[in-house]
Amino acid sequence: MADPMSAAAFLKALRAEGLTVVEVGDWRNHNRNRKGPWGPVHGVMIHHTVTKGSARTVEICRTGYASLPGPLCHGVITKDGRVYLVGYGRANHAGSGDDDVLAAVIGETALPADNEANSDGNRSFYGFECENLGDGKDPWPAVQLEAIEKAAAAVCRYHKWNERSVIGHSEWQPGKVDPRGFTMASMRARVAKRLGKKPSSSGGGSGSSGSGSYTVRAGDTLWAIARAHGTTVPTLVDLNDLRNPSKLAPGQKLRVPGAATTTYTVARGDTLWSIAASRLGDGNRWREIAKLNGLPDADELSPGQKLKLPKK
Ligand SMILES: [Zn+2]
Repeated sequence: MADPMSAAAFLKALRAEGLTVVEVGDWRNHNRNRKGPWGPVHGVMIHHTVTKGSARTVEICRTGYASLPGPLCHGVITKDGRVYLVGYGRANHAGSGDDDVLAAVIGETALPADNEANSDGNRSFYGFECENLGDGKDPWPAVQLEAIEKAAAAVCRYHKWNERSVIGHSEWQPGKVDPRGFTMASMRARVAKRLGKKPSSSGGGSGSSGSGSYTVRAGDTLWAIARAHGTTVPTLVDLNDLRNPSKLAPGQKLRVPGAATTTYTVARGDTLWSIAASRLGDGNRWREIAKLNGLPDADELSPGQKLKLPKK
């Protein structure tokens, strides 16, 4: 049992696991919280979307349907292995499921068959929808399966859960078949293996994070530390998840952004906006990337091209 992590912590956990994350719209405040509770959370649920095409899939998961308003999950994992954040808080993904299954997830014991729909899953689970037709034929690219593994592990690592806190929708709600095309047992084995190691640091698309650490000395202020490292107070607060930025203790270790720039290798389908959104956390910063690399035309990107990225 746990309180849900903050939206900032969720984003940070996913990135720390090495995922390429794209923030969509006002995802942090897009939820169904006015319709019911969100939390305590007990696990991570994996789904398939029965859709084709990444852009359309992300949009459907964000807005939902007339009969089932969005968000339909927290993160959408597309076939290229990216995670699009579409909502945060209570989301319409899990529906009612079996309270015996919930008890097993909480106790991290073997799952019983799901034969009841008497417990509110939208309150209890983080949800990832994965782009797949769900017909058992549509392939699951290796990069997508790896992203599912990383996303589930990121949440488990944060909450100190093990792989048994990761379930498929089919294991929760009678009548559901998702995800189809791989087994949840195999995915749990992958998550278990990953949780045994430290998170991989660099995201998809390469590049070094270049962050370093700084040990707080008596008399230091966050503002002075930020200035000395060419960064800002909000960046340090975010990077270190500081709850109370005015209280720094001598000896405390802070993560600080390191190198002035990092390198990014352009992947197929990238735009300056999408790179700025996923790597800098703000699509509007595409102009900084264009300027830094002397790009005359914002549309001229080719796969494999190396770009310098400014500090986050
Ligand atoms: Zn589902």
